[in-house]
Amino acid sequence: KAEPLAQIISSDAAKSMYKPRKKFSHKGDFGHVLTMAGSKGKMGAAVLATGAAVNMGAGKVTAYIPEHANSILQSSIPEVMTISSKSKDYITDFDHDLKDITLCVGPGLSTGDDVKHAFAKALSQQTQPVVIDADGLNILSDNPEYWKMIPNNSILTPHDGELKQLIGRWKDDYDRIEKAKNLSIDKDVILVLKGAHTIIISGKNLYINDTGNPGMATAGSGDVLSGMIAGLLAQHYDSLTAAVFGVFIHGRAGDIASQTYAHEGLKASIISNFVGAAILDLF
Ligand code: AMP
Ligand code: MG
Repeated sequence: KAEPLAQIISSDAAKSMYKPRKKFSHKGDFGHVLTMAGSKGKMGAAVLATGAAVNMGAGKVTAYIPEHANSILQSSIPEVMTISSKSKDYITDFDHDLKDITLCVGPGLSTGDDVKHAFAKALSQQTQPVVIDADGLNILSDNPEYWKMIPNNSILTPHDGELKQLIGRWKDDYDRIEKAKNLSIDKDVILVLKGAHTIIISGKNLYINDTGNPGMATAGSGDVLSGMIAGLLAQHYDSLTAAVFGVFIHGRAGDIASQTYAHEGLKASIISNFVGAAILDLF
């Protein structure tokens, strides 16, 4: 039967996407996320994205970070391993093996030349889908020649400001979606258009999310989402499912958390800590 081209993500649909764990699982079954994130003054973004990959269930998580931030990462998230860059304040060239690693690149990264090259080098080594957010998207918009390095089915998570850099100005909502669809088709990527109702675009198909609340309009909320989606990719969710399920759970986590914290008291790290509650809420 023909699938509708646009659909709201229902709780039932989200439930059917969820993969319960088998009793004799081990951490190797749940993948390895590598976050490339953070720069001086923006290490919170790296902590949030990296922590969210852990909270979403990735088997192992490593953060590739500027040298000065090693103790920041290690003391905020004991579950995480780190690789320090040669530069003190931002990420530089990357020469580690990325085989079997799920890359999440962009939160708090900054956009200088060294960072750009590290971004390009990591992407060019990667063959499986990656998650690109924030400054990763800004670098891509400024350097369209990097598009060819992005593996098919990668997931890009722009808010409207980042989207504008990617697709140019739009006339109205319809035009926004059409332009985004064209980009998704042209580049073979999944787009997560973040907002009060986040829309996931995969070619001609649209998925509209209705979980979440205005309490999530707070710094770092998007960094948490990108880490969560990478955590799902690492656990062998396919790209579209990782994007759709990740967005749904992120919003639901914010909804459950807001019952305790109100919209005002909600902050990104709390959303991340409610990921487990959001999964339990599916059942
Ligand atoms: P960012 O701007 O990158 O921090 O991303 C913000 C995140 O919070 C995205 O996942 C948005 O979908 C979510 N968000 C922001 N504002 C709202 C809102 N008013 N209602 C629901 N979700 C929101
Ligand atoms: Mg963001």
